Amino acid sequence: MDFYISWSHSDANFIDYFPDCFMLVSAVPDNRGSLRRFQKKPRKLLVDCGSVYYVKQKERPSLKEVYDIQASIYDGCPVSTEVTLVHFDEPMLYKETLSQKYYSMERTLFNANEYITLINSFKDERLSCMGVIQGFDEASIIYSAFELQKMGYKKFGIGSLLKKNLSEQIAIIKLASNIVGASNLHVFGVTGLLPIKTMIDLGIASCDSTRPTMAAAFYQVFYSNPFRTFYLAESHAKPSSPNRLESPLPCLCPICKNNANEILIPSPREYMRLRSVHNYFHLTEEINEMKRNKGVV
Ligand SMILES: [Zn+2]
Repeated sequence: MDFYISWSHSDANFIDYFPDCFMLVSAVPDNRGSLRRFQKKPRKLLVDCGSVYYVKQKERPSLKEVYDIQASIYDGCPVSTEVTLVHFDEPMLYKETLSQKYYSMERTLFNANEYITLINSFKDERLSCMGVIQGFDEASIIYSAFELQKMGYKKFGIGSLLKKNLSEQIAIIKLASNIVGASNLHVFGVTGLLPIKTMIDLGIASCDSTRPTMAAAFYQVFYSNPFRTFYLAESHAKPSSPNRLESPLPCLCPICKNNANEILIPSPREYMRLRSVHNYFHLTEEINEMKRNKGVV
């Protein structure tokens, strides 16, 4: 299973430290052209549509406006970069009634169809499209997946799982995998190690997470083998937690090799970025260990 770091313009430049880092970048205005400043480019880039951002705005952008931001993100990547573009979806977020949910699903499918037609018209071989499977119950998820297949989608993503408990998440992922095949399915916005392990077991193609960055912002430091999370002793975060880190533990990440004490400095933001690079190293170490145990590396 490929792990993508969900990245935004003010985050650490993970790719500078880890050439094998795969990135998910959302097509929100602040991320426009954001990869241009990187000397190294990711080998795999997933360009999301930013719909969770746009759903909070007064007006939705047009399909072309979203695509233009997406193009500015992958623009400048070499032909060797595998670019996957996610069509604009209408998130189920804030949708309460059945008719609102049904409208979201139909709107998403309509966008998906227009989008794949647009991308196919470019005849650019490095681009592929990912269809967002969206539904509010079993029947609608099945319907959504079948409709995307009919449009010609070969890669699929499933999201909006954050508010569900683990067994509900797994049930939805399994349901979608049964239709489109686990090896064609990406799971958006994963945070826990348990769901990650389950997805590796299921043979899911890929997932993404902001967790290394979010944890760093909340003064958390990861270590792997075994995986542990500590709070910075100098921060006020979670004072009740006994897992407070006074001094750094041995670590082979690029930041600690240089000066391990820097990851323990709560702020300003540049130290949070260094901590997120350290956290990325340990999260991916843990994922790689899970993959080795499963025998898929
Ligand atoms: Zn480190």
